[in-house]
This record gives sequence, structure tokens and C-alpha cells, in this order.
Amino acid sequence: MQCDITPALHDAPDIAEAEAILRTCVHCGFCTATCPTYQILGDELDGPRGRIYLIKDFLAGSPTTSESLIHLDRCLMCRACETTCPSGVRYARLAEIGRREMEPILGRPASERLQRALLRSIVPYPRRLRPFLQLAQSVKSVLREDWARRIPDCPSPTVETTRPGSDYPRVLLLAGCVQSVSTPGTNLALQKILDTLQIPWQIPAAAGCCGALSLHLGAEEEALGFMRRNIDAWWPWIEQGAEAILASASGCGAMLKEYGQALQHDPAYADKARRIAELARDPGEWLLAQNVELPGIVPHKTKVAFHCPCSLQHGQGLHGRIETLLQRAGYTLLPVADSHLCCGSAGSYSLLQPELANELRQRKLSCLEAEVPDCIATANVGCQLHLQQKSSVPVRHWLELLAEAINNMGRPKNELGHL
Ligand code: SF4
Ligand code: SF4
Repeated sequence: MQCDITPALHDAPDIAEAEAILRTCVHCGFCTATCPTYQILGDELDGPRGRIYLIKDFLAGSPTTSESLIHLDRCLMCRACETTCPSGVRYARLAEIGRREMEPILGRPASERLQRALLRSIVPYPRRLRPFLQLAQSVKSVLREDWARRIPDCPSPTVETTRPGSDYPRVLLLAGCVQSVSTPGTNLALQKILDTLQIPWQIPAAAGCCGALSLHLGAEEEALGFMRRNIDAWWPWIEQGAEAILASASGCGAMLKEYGQALQHDPAYADKARRIAELARDPGEWLLAQNVELPGIVPHKTKVAFHCPCSLQHGQGLHGRIETLLQRAGYTLLPVADSHLCCGSAGSYSLLQPELANELRQRKLSCLEAEVPDCIATANVGCQLHLQQKSSVPVRHWLELLAEAINNMGRPKNELGHL
């Protein structure tokens, strides 16, 4: 796709990259068929090819209205279109640059700006988020059921940040922001699995939000600040030989793998950020690569429908890994139709675009519940919280299921089973 960038944007950062991405698109429209928002709305401008045209028109200096931003806002950034595209168009990166350039020129209503500012000022900070959730929890019992189910249980177990003897951790864990408050059992499960495998781990206390929320809300500098803070927190351990950074929320994992790209223009951090991206792993990806052994496991009757988050299958290209692990741990995995489609959670999307998010959730749950599972498993806290609002069965993180399998099926070491 040819695009002559308007002289007004020649000096904008990453414009050459956006132009190069635009050139890779051959207008074929294959991506449209797998776009969830196109499937619901049926408007070409609410599909990837239409959004690419809108960005191209803006960058070329054609007259653009706030309608273009509305179509871009409806995008989940799920990257299903990237998986489908035969030309390898990096749509998400293009949309990120396009939105960043459009927003200041096209503007947003004050109510939207306030909503986004509130999300950015609370959600990435566990110490601010926890009191809000605890307050909501205190009135949960008097709320309508559909409202009450929006509020996570918010347990607050003591989360350990290190293990004795882990001065030289093999792996670093990212506790995350929303996950550490709303579903802390996920990280505890990962810690338990690592302990069983006698793998020293560490959660550097100074690390925090991965930066994804700010980036997706158009606050790029704020996102880069989170990334630099995390790099500073992890770097001493990396210099000591830590071999991987495990993010148990797949959305955070996808973000870590893009640190190199995000900080490529920062001379002080570019090399370190590239190294972080190389070390970032989803726990499932890492466990499978280790070919490690767990206490012997036998098949049992729990039937699981697995929802593979977009950040895992499209963002990290790791479709099928968790299903393999769960099957090896003895669970019965049920077939799930349309598994490539987003559930509607998509970071802050479910709060900013509730109607589309609810429609997508309804479609996703009808696929997940079709074979009558005992539970639904997923790999990202956002999907977990979003789906459990309407699910008829519990929605768990797969790490909890794996940890339970180890717990229930523990046997002497000579009866080990391979992951
Ligand atoms: S990222 Fe997802 S919602 Fe956005 S255009 Fe691509 S497929 Fe559609
Ligand atoms: S599938 Fe790829 S090349 Fe074809 S229209 Fe979509 S983004 Fe462009």
C-alpha cells in the first residue's frame, strides 16, 4: 500500500516504520474474516483493512474526522489479523503509531479523557487498586448478581517475593499489577510449581506494571517509564545469571517481549530492553522447553475448556502449548470452536467498550461451555475476570490447575511424569 507521508508528520517518531508497515499490506482482505469487531459490526472500517486505510489517509494528510479514532478505539488490539495476514503486516504496531499521532490532533471528549486518566492513575498501582476492590467487595453482597460478579474476590494472601537460597535465582517472576491484587493465587501456583521442581526464583520488589495498560491508552511516555523501572529492578539479577523472566499473565508477557522495540530509541536502555525481550517467557513456554519432570500424574475426570488469550496465541505465537501441558497433567481438554477469537476483555477494552466486550464474551462463553466443562481455564487475568462474570462454571488460571495436579497426584520421585 503506497503512502506519501504528509510533510507535517515527517519528523514524528516511528513514521518511517509506519510507512514501511503500510507498504507490506497488499489489500487482500483475508484479515477481515478473522476480525472480531468486523464480525459483529459488519463495517469494513471496523476491520483491519479499513483501519489500515484510515491510518494511511491520516498519515498522508487527507481530511480526517474523529470518526476515524472511534473506529480505531473499537479495535481490541487482539492481533488475530496478524496471525491471518499472509503478508506479515504488523498491524498492532501500525495502529499504535497511528493512534498516538491521531489523538492529539483529533481530540477526545472530556468524559473519555477523564475515564482514561482514572484508569491510568489507579489500575497499574496495586496499593491504589486494592482499596478500591476491597471497598467494592464490602458491598458485593447487596449488589445485583450480575454487578456482584464483576468484582473479583480480591483475596490477599501473603505473597512471598523470594525463597531462601534464591540469591542466585534461575528465573525472575513478574507479579503484575491487577493480577497480584485480584487473583494472587496464580503467582502462588507458579511459585509452588517452581518449588516442586527446585528452581530458585525471585520477584524483584521494585518491579511493577509492565506498561501495557498505559501504552494501550495512548500514554507512551508513562509506559516507557514503567518499562525502565522494571529493567532497573531486574538488571542486577540478570547480571547474576537469571535465565528467564516469567510473566504468568500472558498480556504482560506479550508486553515484555516488545520492550526492545518500545525502547529502541533510548540509548541508555535500548540494549537492556532487547535483552529483557529475549529473556521474557510465558511460564508454559518455559516449562515445556525445560523438559522437566513433575510428580507422577494420572488422568482424572476434570473436563477443561481452555480459552487461549489473544496475547498468548496471536501476541506471543504460543497457541497449543498450555493445552499440551494440561493434558500431560492429566486433564481432559475439550474442543472449543472459534478459539482464535477474542473474549472481549482486551486490557481496559471491557471498561471502555462494554457493549462490544459483552457481545464478544457471550459468543466466547457459548463456545467454551458447549461441551459442558467442569471449569474454564485461561492464561491471562483480564480474560479470567471478564469471563467469570457470566460463566456458569469456575474460570481458573491454568497454573492453578497444574499446581493442583501436582498436589493431588504427588508420588515418589521414581514415578515422575514428563511435562
Ligand atoms: S487487532 Fe483484532 S480487533 Fe483489531 S483489527 Fe486486528 S483482528 Fe480486528
Ligand atoms: S491480510 Fe494483510 S495484506 Fe491482506 S489486507 Fe489484511 S493486513 Fe493487508
